[in-house]
Amino acid sequence: MKDELIKLIFPNVKDKSYYEEKYPKRDLKEGAVVTRFAPSPTGFVHMGSLFSAYVSSKAAHDTDGVFFLRIEDTDQKREVENGIENIIRDLDNFDIKIDEGVTSNGEVGIYGPYIQTHRKEIYESFASYLMSIDLAYPCFLTEKELEEMREIQEKDKLEIGCYGAFAKYRDLSDEERIKKIKNGEPYIIRLKSQGDINKRIHIKDLIKGDLEFPENNIDVVLIKGDGFPTYHFAHAVDDSLMHTTHVIRGDEWLSSLPIHYELFKVLGYKLPKYCHLSPIMIQDGEIRRKLSKRKDKEAAISFYHELGVPKEAIKLYLLTIANSNFEEWYNANPRESIDKFKFDFKKVSSSGSLFDMEKLLNISKNYLSYLSASDFYNRLLEYTKEYDSEFYNLLVKYKDDSIEFINIERERKKPRKDYSSFSEVKDNMWYMFDELFFKEKKSLDNSEIIIDYFNNYYDSSDTEEEWFNKMKDLASKYGYATDMKAYKEEPDSYPGSIVDISNMIRISMTTKDNTPNLYNILKILGKTRIEKRINEYYPSSKKD
Ligand code: GLU
Repeated sequence: MKDELIKLIFPNVKDKSYYEEKYPKRDLKEGAVVTRFAPSPTGFVHMGSLFSAYVSSKAAHDTDGVFFLRIEDTDQKREVENGIENIIRDLDNFDIKIDEGVTSNGEVGIYGPYIQTHRKEIYESFASYLMSIDLAYPCFLTEKELEEMREIQEKDKLEIGCYGAFAKYRDLSDEERIKKIKNGEPYIIRLKSQGDINKRIHIKDLIKGDLEFPENNIDVVLIKGDGFPTYHFAHAVDDSLMHTTHVIRGDEWLSSLPIHYELFKVLGYKLPKYCHLSPIMIQDGEIRRKLSKRKDKEAAISFYHELGVPKEAIKLYLLTIANSNFEEWYNANPRESIDKFKFDFKKVSSSGSLFDMEKLLNISKNYLSYLSASDFYNRLLEYTKEYDSEFYNLLVKYKDDSIEFINIERERKKPRKDYSSFSEVKDNMWYMFDELFFKEKKSLDNSEIIIDYFNNYYDSSDTEEEWFNKMKDLASKYGYATDMKAYKEEPDSYPGSIVDISNMIRISMTTKDNTPNLYNILKILGKTRIEKRINEYYPSSKKD
């Protein structure tokens, strides 16, 4: 009878042992970690999912293990177009290497298919196995009956779900089951739970520590009415057959652990190591809540892309929140590749980190300051090509000057830290291009001093020291203080100090009172361009 029932429900299934042979244990070195990123193809990777994908890949790659991408698309209502391509592209953009599974080169690896809807026959085979040992059954509860059951449970404050007396079809005879199915009654497949809610199970989570739960006693759904598995069932089947050693996922799954524990047990497989990550939190006025891809612009990866925050800075930030010892390591090794840092589960905070944009931008500022001038230039080109074609064209046209400008006070032990993103560069650089400089209106204040300086003091062949001494001479000539100590003691005795004088010159050539080293800027501009600027904006300087 049982065989007949199984044949009726699953006419085309294979033996569990067939799959066990097909997907043998992985041949990896001792201690190698096998992890996966298992998103639903419901849109883009966001900060939260990037965090778990990055941590998973790092844990695998640090141990010469495997990081694979599995697509969990069994909830077809939630699917979006190009969902899978977007996920792969986002991971690729962050240089998160997918070793196996769904990749930009198609499916790679012997443990596939890696897209759950292509694994239907596998889930059916495992469900039929559970039916054959009387640990699963078809359940005919209707929507209405389920609703009523829920109402009673809520009203009487009982545990919610299908169990005990509520599991009406649990003990139906196979004969009656066959009859109902032949009659066309809709059904789903449920686990016949063996758990006892009065007994406890113990699970060690690598992040949350030792956990204790009551056993699962719910006859959870294994195969839904549409023929696809539930998350729980697919998780147990897939992570067993794919030999995942560490399941790294969000801690919203913690409460489902007793179900997963039982499913691995009834299937006869070892539980993987669980690592439940706390979500990234955000302070929203008075309340602290999960960073939300719907509410928070900072959750979208595209937000950083548009801002021009480099992907490396985001990864640095994610590692900072992932491992409490990372920041110290990075401060000691700021120019080292982060691949050298070894991720450690023991150093993951078990409570959620608060998202800190200021910190992220600060990390980005440091990162950008350590880039060589030509690397910075190339990355800036990439950014402006997408977001600012006018600036891009100027950077291309004046490549050497641009790199020279970017290089001011860079490539040294303590570089200048001007930018936390590429979107900030133009505001600090536009004045180097005549095309943009002459579009701006300029003030003509103190033109006498400026004209005097460029006509009688400035010499582009001066060393920086000579240049500075001339600036001092100019200041003295107009009564400005050259000794800052004396100036601070009696500021009213002077019209200003040498700082004001150099700022006049700075403003005349850049419009700004804060720029990288003025000596270098003047050198890059060169005599002809300086003269052009003076003639345009300080016409009285024109000599006949
Ligand atoms: N598809 C599940 C999700 O997106 C995966 C959770 C897991 O990693 O097991 O939440």
